[in-house]
Amino acid sequence: MHEFTPEVEALAHQVLEYSLDRLKNDPPLDGPKSAEELYALVGNTITPAGLGGEKAMDLFKDVLAKACISTDHPRYLAFIPSAPSEYANLFDLVVGASALYGGSWLEGAGAVFAENQALRWISDLAGLPQSAGGVFVQGGTMGNLSALVAARAHFRTKRTDVTQWVVAASAEAHSSIKAAAHVMDIDTLLIEPQLNGSLGGAEAALAIDQYHQANPSHQVFALVATAGTTNLGIIDQLASLGDVAHERGIWFHIDGAYGLAALCAPKSRYLFDGVEKADSLIVDPHKWLFAPFDACALIYRNPELGKKAHLQHAAYLETLEDESEWNPSDYAIHLTRRARGLPFWFSLAAHGTTEYAQAVEDTMEMARTAATMIRNHPNLELVAEPTLSVVAFTRTGWNTAQYQTWSDKLLEDQIGFVTPSAHHGAPILRFAIVNPWTKESDLAEILATL
Ligand SMILES: *Cc1c(COP(=O)(O)O)cnc(C)c1O
Repeated sequence: MHEFTPEVEALAHQVLEYSLDRLKNDPPLDGPKSAEELYALVGNTITPAGLGGEKAMDLFKDVLAKACISTDHPRYLAFIPSAPSEYANLFDLVVGASALYGGSWLEGAGAVFAENQALRWISDLAGLPQSAGGVFVQGGTMGNLSALVAARAHFRTKRTDVTQWVVAASAEAHSSIKAAAHVMDIDTLLIEPQLNGSLGGAEAALAIDQYHQANPSHQVFALVATAGTTNLGIIDQLASLGDVAHERGIWFHIDGAYGLAALCAPKSRYLFDGVEKADSLIVDPHKWLFAPFDACALIYRNPELGKKAHLQHAAYLETLEDESEWNPSDYAIHLTRRARGLPFWFSLAAHGTTEYAQAVEDTMEMARTAATMIRNHPNLELVAEPTLSVVAFTRTGWNTAQYQTWSDKLLEDQIGFVTPSAHHGAPILRFAIVNPWTKESDLAEILATL
């Protein structure tokens, strides 16, 4: 038996009390400090003798945690916030206490089984076949990269005469697509979308065919559609893009890191018609499916193609290569992995899918409320009607510096966290509403400062 001293037990109570307090009460917004300020407050925490658990925990609670913005604060509306359910957060404590290994069926069968049921829910919502499957990876960036690597590996088995591999996507695609292309040392064909920022099949077909004509030894191996841009929530035309890809033997990948969460909301399901054509897709439960960082669901229509690209071979791993077992490590660029899909699984299993759908619909409804409030505000102008839960707007007469000054002061005054972005080269503000705790009064409090 391992030794559990009274000191460790006291620390356990301290940790659980902190966690309970954090979950029960509205979190403070807090904000960053410089490394110098933090050093002045805590000094060097790594010492030969150790600080002891209680002291280290106190330093975290009193200083370090307060120098981190609470991403689940109801008036944190910058970037894409985080809104893990209490259930998901509580279960993250359980995962942390359980030394689970999520890479192989042999070691983590129970955890992998549960994760796979959560993946199945997403896959079924998208209308993919029962043979579809995948893995929870760290984030959308890793998900997109892993999917594109699988797509290229598949194409390589069909063509040996290609001098340059190319991924096609909207010019509005997320930066992680360009990052993936950089890592893979491939080219990007970025297509300017015609209709309100949403890429359609006809313009993609024209661009891809013209590109191939001009560059006969180059090959577009994947077409990426974005299902909900991070900046504005715009959804590409999935059905026509899927057809254009498949008519040309091209892999169709859907980046739904933020937006595909809304697949579960019956009222908005139609926005994603065509998602069932995907060869691979991603969605981040840590964005809009009420799970803590960090979890991205990566799903392949044909998981065998993912495995062919990603399975690592080594003498010490051969014992894991049982064809009938599902080893999550085999489906992305990673080996060791924590069972990072489990907090999401627990929340989904405990709350049920109906509550999930309702929570997503509620946040979309709040986004529409925000749009109305902005339309009625004397100094503000809506950039576009919200499609999902991002609301973009401008403050008349302000330049970039004024937006930044306002944003800094909003955080300094501990009112909210809203950062400037840009649209067509001009500064904008945006509310990204993924937190069911964000209420009309929260929006009003922020809008009153504009
Ligand atoms: C957030 C986001 C990503 C990147 O996901 P991470 O989890 O931050 O790596 C990719 N694509 C879109 C559309 C996103 O919104």
